[in-house]
Amino acid sequence: MKITIVGCGDAFGTGGLAHTCFRVDSKGSSTIVDFGASSISSWKRLGFRFDDVDAVVISHLHGDHFGGLPFLLLDCQFVERRTKPLLLIGPPGLGQRLDSALQSSFPDERHLRWGFPWRVEEIPARRKVKLGGSTLETFEVVHKSGGLSTGVRLDDGEKIFAYSGDTAWTDALLDLSAMADLFMVECYSGATPVPNHMDWPTLKSNLSRFSPKRIVATHLSASAMACRVEMEEAGLTIAHDGLSFDL
Ligand SMILES: [Zn+2]
Repeated sequence: MKITIVGCGDAFGTGGLAHTCFRVDSKGSSTIVDFGASSISSWKRLGFRFDDVDAVVISHLHGDHFGGLPFLLLDCQFVERRTKPLLLIGPPGLGQRLDSALQSSFPDERHLRWGFPWRVEEIPARRKVKLGGSTLETFEVVHKSGGLSTGVRLDDGEKIFAYSGDTAWTDALLDLSAMADLFMVECYSGATPVPNHMDWPTLKSNLSRFSPKRIVATHLSASAMACRVEMEEAGLTIAHDGLSFDL
């Protein structure tokens, strides 16, 4: 399994980092996890093609995590001229929110004849779904997004990738990341707690409860970036766009 950080920035592009997007390659299939409003640029900067992708998993319905989907779909249609199916999978409400995003962004394209079959599958938390050669499971986390917000776990039978999504502390993160080879955890805030997100003191105080082999901090605001040396001394890797991991 190979994980590529396409984007790991917060909603505001702090540090010049792109919105959240990870690419997971495993056993001949490729999955995108989250595709924020600026993800299409960071995706292409890495030389990636959507034609290689079988599915897109969305953690929650905030623009910096799913707002790039209209650009992705239109690129598949008009640039890559995709013909093979594409699955978009995420929390309940994904279909309606994507429809609204298409309507507001490209109203004339909303009802076009798509050259490739794409469909939305909405899944509740803690339901295991087969995705290529992997098993996908999402976990409810604590983050207001107008619907269910989740963390994402992909297990290909040999390696496990886990991603917290956006969330304040919840013990669900322990199940989500159990025995993962790589756990990507958001740490939006530095010393000061903020609602809906992780802060470094809270994450630090819970580190000994985690079981993953490697923990990577993502979605850092300026206040969290000020704590990066302390995070690294505690054993965390700090995410940056373009970083990849062969698990
Ligand atoms: Zn969010």
